[in-house]
Amino acid sequence: MKGRLFNSIFIETSALCNRKCVICPNSIYNKHSKQTLLSMNIIEKILKELKELDYDGIIGLYNYNEPLLDPRLLEIIELIRKTLPGVCISLSTNGDFLTIKKAQELYEAGLNVLGINDYNILKNFKNKWGDFFNNLKKIYPEIEETVHRYRKYSRTKKMFSIYNIQKDMNVVNPRAHYLTNRGGLMKNIAQLSSPIQQKCVRPFRYMIIDFKGNYNLCCEDYLNTVKLGNIADKTILKLWNSFKINSIRKKLFKKNRNFSPCDKCSFKGGEHLYSLNTFWK
Ligand code: SF4
Ligand code: SF4
Repeated sequence: MKGRLFNSIFIETSALCNRKCVICPNSIYNKHSKQTLLSMNIIEKILKELKELDYDGIIGLYNYNEPLLDPRLLEIIELIRKTLPGVCISLSTNGDFLTIKKAQELYEAGLNVLGINDYNILKNFKNKWGDFFNNLKKIYPEIEETVHRYRKYSRTKKMFSIYNIQKDMNVVNPRAHYLTNRGGLMKNIAQLSSPIQQKCVRPFRYMIIDFKGNYNLCCEDYLNTVKLGNIADKTILKLWNSFKINSIRKKLFKKNRNFSPCDKCSFKGGEHLYSLNTFWK
């Protein structure tokens, strides 16, 4: 079973994001402009099932929300660490509500990776977060800065990661290769004239549960157009192994992206043949 299970699960524990970054569908849609919390019952259900599956991968507590706006965040991290001691718990935040004290609380609750995705074009971006990291290092001399948020070794360590997107902020530039067009939603990011003829690894490796409990195809399907079921009604395994998602995987494995939203998606990366071949064994 392990070879066929995801290696990362992203749980959007809450809906709200305070920003509307120009590279994000939150700048166009109101889906994340009000707070809604994924119920604790659902979160506990997910963790219970992950424990039964002996899951030891990554749990990311974010998607299109700002996780620090979830008032239960510390409680949730503590619960994950208690239930699943071997997982890597990862956060990605825009940093607006982050203080050294908050970072300390997060690490003490059991967080491994604190990632900053600050999409403001600030001249002092590097200094601001560089200073922040230096202050953290005074508290945790062992802390490491990394660009690889999901490396295996981070499961036992405290990691800090800054994603400096300034070089990619010229979003009309097709060389903005880190930025994807979110299944064609972002018209200011490279659009396709025809579907990319390439495999896509994401539905093989990730599971995303949004703030309503829906299993999302991938982080590009912002509007959850591909209906794959809800964790309130089904087990993780039932959702992950459904006929519908496996049909999509089979198409993607054959480099067939001729269906929505994959036909408009500019995500090129991730052939990861080893992962994909292992999946079908
Ligand atoms: S902070 Fe992140 S989730 Fe919020 S609008 Fe910006 S890119 Fe989107
Ligand atoms: S091709 Fe794009 S939309 Fe389709 S699964 Fe991959 S990342 Fe998601």
